[in-house]
Amino acid sequence: PFDVLVVGGGPAGAAAAIYAARKGVRTGVAAERFGGQVLDTMEIANFISVPHTEGPKLATALETHVRDYEVDIMNLQTATKLVPGGDLIGVELANGATLRSRSVILSTGARWRRMGVPGEDQYMAKGVAFCPHCDGPLFKGKRVAVIGGGNSGVEAAIDLAGIVSHVTLLEFDSKLRADDVLQRKLRSLPNVRIILSARTTEVTGDGTRVNGLKYEDRTSSEIHHVALEGIFVQIGLLPNTEWLKGTVELSPRGEVLVNDRGETSIPGVFAAGDCTTVPYKQIVIAMGEGAKSSLAAFDHLIRTSAP
Ligand code: FAD
Repeated sequence: PFDVLVVGGGPAGAAAAIYAARKGVRTGVAAERFGGQVLDTMEIANFISVPHTEGPKLATALETHVRDYEVDIMNLQTATKLVPGGDLIGVELANGATLRSRSVILSTGARWRRMGVPGEDQYMAKGVAFCPHCDGPLFKGKRVAVIGGGNSGVEAAIDLAGIVSHVTLLEFDSKLRADDVLQRKLRSLPNVRIILSARTTEVTGDGTRVNGLKYEDRTSSEIHHVALEGIFVQIGLLPNTEWLKGTVELSPRGEVLVNDRGETSIPGVFAAGDCTTVPYKQIVIAMGEGAKSSLAAFDHLIRTSAP
């Protein structure tokens, strides 16, 4: 059995594994796809002390760093069930095996909900973006759309309005769902246009980059085209925690509930990164949380019976 078993190999999981291995305890990482969301990222300009890097490069660096230590990396392994137990906690894998460990760190991350329209995949990272904190500055002085009028969409539109030349916010419903205070702020901005009852139907481009989007006005069924350079999709960030339902306590949005030490509702089970209730989903934050939960897991190990 392991002393620390990390489930998930993104920035949070990599940090957790390194911190555990440096304590000299038996450490394993099981990950569906080592690297996580970072693999889907191009420009990274907010990884502090590295002014510019790219996703695949950072993902390789994460794995190289973890491999510097004695860590059992089990890549391409999907966890399907957490089985809490007395001394040993079980993690069942899709291949039928069960891993056992004295402590488990959940770091299965999250995924952005996509619109599912033509052009979206083709222009991913070529104008289609998800994270305003990450990619907003790339659109300085340009025109962008934000899809979604909930809190995250309206926050993104307000944030972007200070950077880009113009923001068009499209909401499917006939009204915005964001908090009133955010809506008031949004409506006070001179370079924002709000379009309600709008169903995005297509991302258009010139073959290389986004040049606009098409939407259907749901009241008239007319199709309109908006010319712009960027599209931020803000229709939900889904935590990869479906496999945990019925075990650790989750928030109404499906995020693993953690305290300030990364402890979950089950003793010996910790969680870190985008799959948790910790706000602001970012690489440096996920890494910090991974390190913290790993130190908390070590604290747990030295307080429970020796191996
Ligand atoms: P993830 O990176 O999501 O990793 C989760 C890991 O868990 C993966 O290895 C995955 O395969 C694995 N996993 C999932 N389910 C299972 C399962 N059931 N069993 C086993 N393994 C599982 N942040 C920044 O700070 N700067 C940026 O510029 C930036 N740009 C971004 C651009 C894009 C397009 C995207 C999508 C995100 C971007 N982010 C950026 C956000 C950043 O990537 C995340 O905050 C960060 O990767 C979260 O790390 P994590 O380890 O919590 O989760």
